[in-house]
Amino acid sequence: MSAIVAIVGRPNVGKSTFFNRLIQRREAIVDAVSGVTRDRHYGKSDWNGKEFSVIDTGGYVVGSDDVFEKEIDRQVELAIEEADAIIFMVDIETGVTGMDEDVAKLLRRVKKPVFLAVNKVDNAKRAEDAVEFYSLGLGEYYTLSSINGGGTGDLLDALVEELPDVVEEKSELPRFAVVGRPNAGKSSFINALIGEERYIVTDIAGTTRDSIDTKYNRYGFEFNLVDTAGIRRKSKVKEDLEFYSVMRSVRAIEHCDVCILMLDATRGFDGQVENIFWLAQRNHKGIVILVNKWDLVEDKETNTIKHYTQRIKKAIEPFTDVPILFVSVLTKQRIFKAIETAVEVYNNRNRKIITRKFNEVMLPIIENYPPPAYKGKFVKIKFCTQLPTPYPQFAFFCNLPQYVREPYKRYLENKIREEFDFSGVPITVFMRKK
Ligand code: GDP
Ligand code: GDP
Repeated sequence: MSAIVAIVGRPNVGKSTFFNRLIQRREAIVDAVSGVTRDRHYGKSDWNGKEFSVIDTGGYVVGSDDVFEKEIDRQVELAIEEADAIIFMVDIETGVTGMDEDVAKLLRRVKKPVFLAVNKVDNAKRAEDAVEFYSLGLGEYYTLSSINGGGTGDLLDALVEELPDVVEEKSELPRFAVVGRPNAGKSSFINALIGEERYIVTDIAGTTRDSIDTKYNRYGFEFNLVDTAGIRRKSKVKEDLEFYSVMRSVRAIEHCDVCILMLDATRGFDGQVENIFWLAQRNHKGIVILVNKWDLVEDKETNTIKHYTQRIKKAIEPFTDVPILFVSVLTKQRIFKAIETAVEVYNNRNRKIITRKFNEVMLPIIENYPPPAYKGKFVKIKFCTQLPTPYPQFAFFCNLPQYVREPYKRYLENKIREEFDFSGVPITVFMRKK
């Protein structure tokens, strides 16, 4: 788990350029594993050994200027609520604009660290012009050029200095987070679990963040539910933008052990649900997919569930070993099963295979189908073990780790999944030099 940094500011100031610079190196690693870049607005970065999550609030809104303005205000407010620190980016080319002043007004009230970043300062001449940004009333500013990287070091030094240390508190109980798009039925699900309507509480801005876990004992299972601001403060405004579901999911996902990813059966597993799925996968969290409102699906012949499942599996390839349940919170259909499955996934995520057993099972499989020769060189895997990490990672020791390609690693992953139960849990396979 890591602190969350949000980059806010009006369109075109360079937020995405800066964001990409921050997450580039990491992203490349992730790409090698998943094969594709799945979401562009959220990533992990680190500086001076401190890891943090970055959210780029840009690129969500399209529309006229006044739509823009209202949306940006709301995005900034949500960023303030959910993030631990904020980078407010402005543009030296345009100078101070009215919209910058509006955002600054919101930020001046904030108790969290705010960093004013004056972007597009590509040369020394431009640095002198930056003084005009003092007028925003946010104090010191940092000049940078996101395009060539100039100035980013100073900004990041200051940023990580002020970031709170978010250490993963140990929990005795499984921690579940219910995530998904607005209207999927998340709060109804939670209400069904706790059996009363007390979940919806009035919200005083800024007070929701602190106690994030709530303990429950239902159906003979004990667990913590990780709250997301979005569920607790049932807002009346229809928040259908992806930004809101991503923003609200990030913290909940980082805090939990297992994500209960809920979607509305009548809307399907769309791109926004998929983004949340990869967010959880990337954070090595357990996942259970609940297709809710199954009562509304009229045509329930035997094949409907099968086809629906196939469609979802296609979207989440190659990580398809994930439980998918068809539920109705309204009629309480399979609600118990959902919690039972989440507990199973939790146990799978904690599963430790003893090394002797792991080698006994895996070495014959490898011998039977060894890594293909690469550039005429033969790879010999001699030994393997599960690493002592909080989520399942496996190391295979061999003479030429760099010659083992992705498809073979995937083959090993599939074999591990066949032989041991890691359903719903992302696993990582490493090749190490022996
Ligand atoms: P966003 O809408 O705030 O995410 O802005 P983008 O990152 O999409 O950038 C908007 C435009 O500004 C693009 O054409 C970028 O190439 C350009 N840009 C971003 N950073 C810099 C910079 O440091 N210097 C200059 N000269 N242009 C930049
Ligand atoms: P959230 O935004 O994800 O928390 O969604 P809500 O729990 O507020 O639910 C959105 C709407 O879907 C509400 O009107 C619920 O009554 C309705 N809903 C939730 N679950 C079901 C279900 O299983 N079947 C049907 N038909 N409606 C549901």
